[in-house]
Formats: sequence, structure tokens, C-alpha cells
Amino acid sequence: MIVNHRHRARVLVIGAGIVGLASSWRLQRLGYAVTLVDPAAAGPQLAGSGSSAALGVFMGDVFHRASGRAWRLRQQSIDLWGRWSADLAAQGLPLSFQAGLLLLAATAEQEDRLKRLSHERQQAGLPLELWSKQQLQRLTPSLPAGALCGLFSPRDGQLDPLEAMRAFRSDGQRAGLELRHGAVVRLERLASGDWQVELKGGETLEASWVVLASGLSTPALLETLGHERPVEAVLGQAVELRLPTGAPAFEHWPGAVVWQGVNLIPRPHGRLWLGATLEPGQAADPQRLEQLLEFDGQAPTWLREAELVSRWQGLRARPVGRPAPLLEVLEQGLVLACGHYRNGILLAPASAQWVTDRIEAGITCSR
Ligand SMILES: Cc1cc2nc3c(=O)[nH]c(=O)nc-3n(C[C@H](O)[C@H](O)[C@H](O)COP(=O)(O)OP(=O)(O)OC[C@H]3O[C@@H](n4cnc5c(N)ncnc54)[C@H](O)[C@@H]3O)c2cc1C
Repeated sequence: MIVNHRHRARVLVIGAGIVGLASSWRLQRLGYAVTLVDPAAAGPQLAGSGSSAALGVFMGDVFHRASGRAWRLRQQSIDLWGRWSADLAAQGLPLSFQAGLLLLAATAEQEDRLKRLSHERQQAGLPLELWSKQQLQRLTPSLPAGALCGLFSPRDGQLDPLEAMRAFRSDGQRAGLELRHGAVVRLERLASGDWQVELKGGETLEASWVVLASGLSTPALLETLGHERPVEAVLGQAVELRLPTGAPAFEHWPGAVVWQGVNLIPRPHGRLWLGATLEPGQAADPQRLEQLLEFDGQAPTWLREAELVSRWQGLRARPVGRPAPLLEVLEQGLVLACGHYRNGILLAPASAQWVTDRIEAGITCSR
């Protein structure tokens, strides 16, 4: 275990989604005294966070650009997830990562794009492979018949988000992480330079650093401090299906298959997760879910006959007018880590590392 007792600054992290939990875990292990506040903190499911609805698909090496901040964060995250999950496993908290992601092409245009991407990434030394239609036919149960080819990415895949969140929480608590059940309603900088945070009900907490990982609530908390960082809600729906009796078990399937933007994730005991839709606003559209299940009329028989076991939905925070995610030191001791939109599970380690590095370096403003 890495514990450095040189640092005893108190850090208050607001929001126990994957980003707040990963940041708290990392800071606590470096010897900071961390308090993590969330109205959902006490529950076993950490319900309330967008993270608890996520499918946990990693689309890092298959990202469409191969330079810039978004690319660097993805590459760093893939590396850190590997190291941090080994660390957690050594503490008796193994994470289930299903390796491999297969991106399917449904049109000639998509086929060309995947061919180009595979060539470019191979040139850059990344282990992407182009799978022919014949290779796709090795997979059982069968993929949509319209799939023309697939791009297989072995370092991408799928991680169980709830399990990862529980692991950060329990290992963090073992190292002294304090979890507080409550909703922050106001932030104020004291004359000493420290921060005072007020919870609903009137209780106050003080800390040298505040990390805002409160998803969609973040702009309201920043408003009274004069910082404008708007985010909008984008809803997603997902379902769990049970394969029909007699359907073949998943064979040669990677951790996730992506068909026309829809993720298919094989689960144990003949189950499958299917998602996610992109719906502006906060209200779920039942029609979108129907479309998801119909698979644009291309669903293989086993999928059409699968039984709906459960459905859920969640909100993603998309920054308005700025690229995702929002990672900034806004003023002395105030760190922003939100707006991860569609990739918060993948990007959580790189974001947590970014937060930790700024606090370690005592950076007071990064705009
Ligand atoms: C259906 C769906 C599927 C997805 N699939 C994927 C995927 O496959 N791969 C991927 O990488 N990403 C995926 N995402 C996106 C991912 O879930 C988000 O990017 C990620 O959850 C963002 O994490 P976060 O910690 O920033 O925010 P959140 O998880 O939203 O957490 C914010 C936390 O802040 C707390 N909070 C809010 N207000 C306050 C307050 N005033 N005081 C204290 N606490 C507060 C909330 O209770 C919450 O727990 C998916 C999202 C959805 C909805």
C-alpha cells in the first residue's frame, strides 16, 4: 500500500460517482485526509450517480482521433486502469475487466473508416486487428447479418462500474477515507484561504482543497462563486436480456461489441446488456428503447427471442461550449472534475490522476 504521511492536507470531494471515488481513493492512499460527500454515499448501490447506470465500455484505442487532450487522457486511463486494478486485486478487490472490443461496420463507408483506422493504429504500434466477415461468423451466438467487417481492439473492453466503485470505496475506507451522507448546498472561501462547505440541513465542513465531482449539480454550486461552467443532461437507457433456452453460449465474443452505436455486452449465465441511447434532457423516451431492442430490424433471432429482465437509465453531464471532461483548478484550492459525458468510466483514472497531480503540486489556478 502506498501511504505517504508527509501530506496531511484535508481534501473534501463532492460527489461519489466513479470520478469522485477514484480521486478520493488516490488522494487517501497518498496520505491526504479525504472526506467524500454524497447524498447517495451510504447506500450499497451508490444510486444517484450517472456512474451506477453506466455499461463500463472502454473505447480508448478505437477513438477516432490519435492526438490531442482527449486521446492522451484515453491512453493514460487505459494504462492506469491496468495498474490500479492490479493494486486493488493485491488488496483482495479484483475487478472484472472483460478484455476486447469489436467495432462492427454496417455500411461500406464505415468499412472504409475501420480499415483506415486499423492501418493508422497499427502503424502507431497499437494492436488493432481488422476481422473479415468470415472471422465474424466464428462468433456464437451470431452477430447481425449485415456486419461487413469488424475492428478488434484487445486493450479496450468492458469493466463492471459498480464493482470498481465499491473497490475504490472499500480500499479507500480501509486507508481512512471518510464517507459523509449529505448534499452540498454552498461553498465559501474563508479568510484563511481554506474552504467551508455547507450541507443541506446546515452542517458545515472545512478543508484546504475542494474537488467538485458532482456531475450535473456542479454548475449550480459554482454559480455563487462567479464561475460559469454549464453542463447539459443527456439521458441513456440500457437493458439486461436473458438469452432464450437453447441459444448457444457466448463463444469468442470480446468484452463488448458495438453495432451502429449500440453496445452489446455478454454477461454471465446467458445474459446480455444492451445500451445506450443518447437522449437530450432528463425524461426517457420509451420509443428509443423499442428502437434499441429492434436493432434497426437487424436483430438476430436469438436476440429477438431474448427475454427482457431489467431496464435502467441514467444521466450523463455534457459540457456546453467546452470539450469533455472539465478538468480545471478554478481558484486556490478549488478543483473541478466533471462533465465526462459518455466516457467517465474509461476516463476516471486519468481524471483522478490529474486532480491528484494538481493538489500535489499545490497549483492554485490552471485556466
Ligand atoms: C446509460 C449510460 C451508459 C454509459 N455507459 C458508459 C460506458 O460504457 N463507458 C463509459 O466510460 N461511460 C459510460 N457512461 C458515462 C458515465 O456514466 C459518466 O461519464 C460517469 O458516470 C461520470 O461520472 P462522474 O463521477 O463524473 O458523475 P456521476 O456518476 O454523475 O456522479 C456525480 C455524483 O455527485 C453526487 N452529487 C450531485 N450533487 C451533489 C451535491 N450537491 N452534493 C454532494 N454530492 C452530489 C451525485 O449523487 C453523484 O453520486 C454511461 C452513462 C449512462 C447514463
